[in-house]
Amino acid sequence: MKYCQGTMCHTYDTKDRKKGSKGNKRNETRKRTSFYYGNGNFCSLNCQTDWFNTHGDNAINHFGRVEKPIILTEENAWNRRYNYHRWHREPESEQLSEYIEVNMITREERDCE
Ligand SMILES: [Zn+2]
Repeated sequence: MKYCQGTMCHTYDTKDRKKGSKGNKRNETRKRTSFYYGNGNFCSLNCQTDWFNTHGDNAINHFGRVEKPIILTEENAWNRRYNYHRWHREPESEQLSEYIEVNMITREERDCE
């Protein structure tokens, strides 16, 4: 079991966050075996956003702020896509492969490697 890392998780008023009985009532951070958001660290997108609002600047400064553009060049711009030519082919035309590679910079197409 692990806790949601959301910094405000305990402030969202839902039944499953309620603990304790009369005189000791409280809302607690969600605890689950797994979460769906933020690499399994958050119970909701809200909690992920809350964490970022609290720690995002520190985290970016710690791991390295982007200070200049990150560049995509022709050489590493090939992207595997569904081969949309298959939608338009004649039934008796040659068999087209299911995927092709498209260059995001030049729009060139090539067979998958
Ligand atoms: Zn949460």
